[in-house]
Amino acid sequence: MKIYNTLSKRLEEFVPINEGKITMYVCGPTVYNLIHIGNARPMIVFDTFRRYMTYRGYEVNYVSNFTDVDDKIINAAREEGVEASEISERYIAECRKDMEGLNVLPATVHPQATREIPAMIDMISTLEKKGYAYRVEDGTVYYRTRKFAGYGKLSGKNIDDLESGHRSEGHALKVSGAEGKEDDFDFVLWKPKKEGEPFWESPWCEGRPGWHIECSCMSKRYLGDTIDIHAGGEDLIFPHHENEIAQSEAANGVPFAHYWMHNGFLNIDNQKMSKSLGNFFTVRDIAAKYDLQVLRFFMLSAQYRSPLNFSDQLMESAKAGLDRIKNGVLNLSDLEKNGIEGDMTEKELAEYEKVLSERDRFNEVMDNDLNTADGISVIFDLVKFANTTTSKGATRAYAAAVRSVIEQLGNVMGLKLETKEEVLDEEIERLIAERQTARKEKNFARADEIRDELLSRGIRLKDTREGVKWSRI
Ligand code: AMP
Ligand code: ZN
Repeated sequence: MKIYNTLSKRLEEFVPINEGKITMYVCGPTVYNLIHIGNARPMIVFDTFRRYMTYRGYEVNYVSNFTDVDDKIINAAREEGVEASEISERYIAECRKDMEGLNVLPATVHPQATREIPAMIDMISTLEKKGYAYRVEDGTVYYRTRKFAGYGKLSGKNIDDLESGHRSEGHALKVSGAEGKEDDFDFVLWKPKKEGEPFWESPWCEGRPGWHIECSCMSKRYLGDTIDIHAGGEDLIFPHHENEIAQSEAANGVPFAHYWMHNGFLNIDNQKMSKSLGNFFTVRDIAAKYDLQVLRFFMLSAQYRSPLNFSDQLMESAKAGLDRIKNGVLNLSDLEKNGIEGDMTEKELAEYEKVLSERDRFNEVMDNDLNTADGISVIFDLVKFANTTTSKGATRAYAAAVRSVIEQLGNVMGLKLETKEEVLDEEIERLIAERQTARKEKNFARADEIRDELLSRGIRLKDTREGVKWSRI
């Protein structure tokens, strides 16, 4: 597998720290609102990376945080007149719903900043002891950026250039309100509380952490001092990821992450997505019009590092493309039931070999820095090949074998291609009745089993005062 490493600025062969295992950290959203389709891009592409590596036999320990303390969250809470935690918990729950719709697997762990404060205080204390952090009069703790020799190695920025850039643009060097700050590029590790804000006790003052420290701490806690891959959107390279490296490497004394992966930005109608331009979509907006599988398919139609343009027209063509693949799978399922019985013919065996070599080609293109655009082309080619080779009928065995390969690759992409058999209403009613009996007999294991079976077939049960209601998902 070759990965473009932002740290070395080139394609590198991926070599994990421990054979067969991957430790990966992906910066997650700040939860003050419904997630937008830009936030969905890193979720989808790195989930696909995780699925692909799992399919290639790796065990992936995947951690992705929720930033649940931040100015935007505090402002939203103030506007609604509720606690900050009410806002963050609400939008974490909403985000999880969107992830489910996008078929993004839950991370191995989804840590939340507010639950990791002791680890952050620990790391800041270590930095202070080592001379990388200092406290000023009002209780703010800053990171002493110039002391970290490697500062700028990820972004390619150099503090002196940044500083002269600031001067030539006429910016004041000392940011106002930062009394005692030694250098313009020192960043906040801990800051004092303001009236009405959430706060925690600390050795420096009652306050809250800066943004960057949470990722350094959660990555250390759940994955270790040195991890294989750290990922996020390209806007995070500077300053967020640069600062994470400075914090972690100064505190732990070892390299932070071997590979840094960054997704390109999602634009709308070739413009930057922004609320003020009015070209801003939440995932929920898209869900009102399309199955979210279409959004996922659309995102994967480009390699993750390329900028991606979103438009109605491109979504329509993604929908048509996904339908083409689904129809191919549907034809194969049909043949699986109604095709010729018996073993594959000689000709089919040869054709199946071709299918397997297409799967090898899929692996090859995906091994090239997760080229999902080419991966999808291979799936299209496979569907075309399946349509051609079965147009005059086929054995059930051949149809089943080809369908299973296409579905396997679809699953790597996180696309649900399997055509679930329609569950008839009578059967649902019968299972619900059986579940009620099981409950009366206190056989809760069976009752749960029935609920889960129905769920896996797309039927959700809801216990209400009027009895059990069901709906198709
Ligand atoms: P935020 O909540 O702003 O910290 O963003 C969460 C994740 O979404 C980060 O990895 C960002 O880089 C990413 N992100 C935000 N906007 C976009 C966008 N328009 N295109 C792609 N990724 C984005
Ligand atoms: Zn982060």
